[in-house]
Amino acid sequence: MSQECIFDKIVKKESPAEIEYEDADVMAFWDVAPKAPTHILIIPKKHIESIDHITEEDLPLLGKMIMAAKKVAEKKGLTTDGYKLVINNGPGVGQTVPHLHMHLLGGKRMGEV
Ligand code: 5GP
Repeated sequence: MSQECIFDKIVKKESPAEIEYEDADVMAFWDVAPKAPTHILIIPKKHIESIDHITEEDLPLLGKMIMAAKKVAEKKGLTTDGYKLVINNGPGVGQTVPHLHMHLLGGKRMGEV
């Protein structure tokens, strides 16, 4: 039985997305319902449900997600004013898609965490 989620379909290009960055391991694309002037999601292409599901062998992938976020932030001109990186872990704090993703948010003043 397939466990494919919407982000797996975006990775396979079976679902459309406005892609800002892609390499062999990670992808960054616009959030379909942006909560900031720039709201881009960075995901591993490998299906990992959440931070709770990462293993030691996934650690390089997390570094690659951070590097992708940095590249996208530079591309979108966010380095001067700054940007926020958020990972929701679990439905209790608002994780709605069961595929690890990091929100890159910028372009407006946001409250401190
Ligand atoms: P979460 O709440 O799980 O941390 O974030 C999931 C995010 O994915 C939400 O901000 C939501 O708007 C976005 N999202 C959900 N479905 C899709 C989709 O099919 N395409 C894109 N680009 N974003 C999606």
